[in-house]
Amino acid sequence: MPRARPSLSSTRRTTSRRPGHAVAAVALRSLLAVALAASLAACAARPAAAPAGTSPAPPVNTAELPVVTDQRVADSLLADVRSLDSTIVVALRYATPDNFTGAPLPGYEANRAFLRREAAAALARVQRRLAADGDRDGEKLTLKVWDAYRPVRATLAMVDWTRRVGREDLLRDGYIASRSRHNLGLAIDLTLAERSSGRELEMGTPFDTFSPAAHTANATGVAAVNRQRLKAAMESEGFTNYDQEWWHFSYDLPAPVRFDVVIR
Ligand SMILES: [Zn+2]
Repeated sequence: MPRARPSLSSTRRTTSRRPGHAVAAVALRSLLAVALAASLAACAARPAAAPAGTSPAPPVNTAELPVVTDQRVADSLLADVRSLDSTIVVALRYATPDNFTGAPLPGYEANRAFLRREAAAALARVQRRLAADGDRDGEKLTLKVWDAYRPVRATLAMVDWTRRVGREDLLRDGYIASRSRHNLGLAIDLTLAERSSGRELEMGTPFDTFSPAAHTANATGVAAVNRQRLKAAMESEGFTNYDQEWWHFSYDLPAPVRFDVVIR
């Protein structure tokens, strides 16, 4: 964009010396102005576009998205994942003090994982796929969910926490989002566990480890194998992994909305 203005003025200088080309010059200037405006608009609309070669990152939670606070509307769009497959293990960390803030977050009043219905159905298919794989190779695994739909008020509480404890770097570095896809009911944090014992598979770091060790690709040995196993299982039903958090997956739906209703 910095080069657009000089080329516009040089165009005007060269064409204005030739009578008969005045109309063409005006038309060209208009065209360049339109092109400049269009490219500026594109930059504004995509401030954080993923570099070429990385996976696409929709759906993005933007400030323009409406916030649903009506319980009936939320009930029509969100589903409890265990209503679709009761074998999915749910242990919502933000409903307990066992999370990075040390206290339950506002809006979490029950241990229930909600997602947009389409995403919840996809998750149930992942769980069934894991059961079928277990039947084949003898090791039965289950999904274990730490977070799913997150009320807007809980996200705001997380941001407040970063300011209270002087950890705004976590916002800047992408570990905590001020507007999260969890608010859309289109993101989920989870791991794999053994169905019989409940033992979580080794993944190299605990949940909510805010460091490069949690980046999905940064693991070796059995942890690397298990991360890829989780990623492959989720991708098979359309979820996309966030490459800075091995446990975080998102699902794409058109016209997402934010939700701020209490989890009960
Ligand atoms: Zn997450």
